[in-house]
Amino acid sequence: MLYITHLPAGLMSGFVVLAATGTGLIHWPVGLLAAGLGSLAPDLDHGRSYLNQSLERTAENAGRKIPVVGTVAGGVGVFATRTVNRTFARVVKHRGPMHSPLTLAFVIVLLLQHWGMLAAVLGQPVTSGIQTIIESRGLVGLAWSCFFFGYISHLAADAVTDNGIRLWPFRFKLRLPLVKTGSVIERRVLAPGLWLAMLVTAGQAILNI
Ligand SMILES: [Zn+2]
Repeated sequence: MLYITHLPAGLMSGFVVLAATGTGLIHWPVGLLAAGLGSLAPDLDHGRSYLNQSLERTAENAGRKIPVVGTVAGGVGVFATRTVNRTFARVVKHRGPMHSPLTLAFVIVLLLQHWGMLAAVLGQPVTSGIQTIIESRGLVGLAWSCFFFGYISHLAADAVTDNGIRLWPFRFKLRLPLVKTGSVIERRVLAPGLWLAMLVTAGQAILNI
């Protein structure tokens, strides 16, 4: 799917996590930023995705702020970012490991293990598991939780496209071909519908504080 579809879905998952965990409003921007990034991160394996291009533009704009030297530094920055993006995309195939629920589960387990919280979190329902993470790790825990939920929303959305997602490293595909990526249905119906749903979710989350 396109970033115009992934972003509202990711933000919506962020609002759900924030509301469900009773996180204070002051910390919402962190959670929403993380969920938004999480919802766009899997397509970094594309090389030319929205997030890839944003990174390149950031390098260019950062350079523009300083005269002469900045233009050169910005140019080098863009070149470096683009090279990293393209090389990464060539090594990590699109819709390969970055789009696999198994890789994601593995990373989450590794992180929880690193924090020494694996048993404590896995033994609980999802909401209290996230609360435990936030209590123990603070804003970092909140950011990672929202990031992962944004990421999950991306995989779920791609799973209902014509291409589906692979259970990498296996060949098995999760695929329910409801929408064709980039189609009129996605651009005119699904994406606007998700932006609207995201706003409704945001409203409900704020009213429930
Ligand atoms: Zn994707």
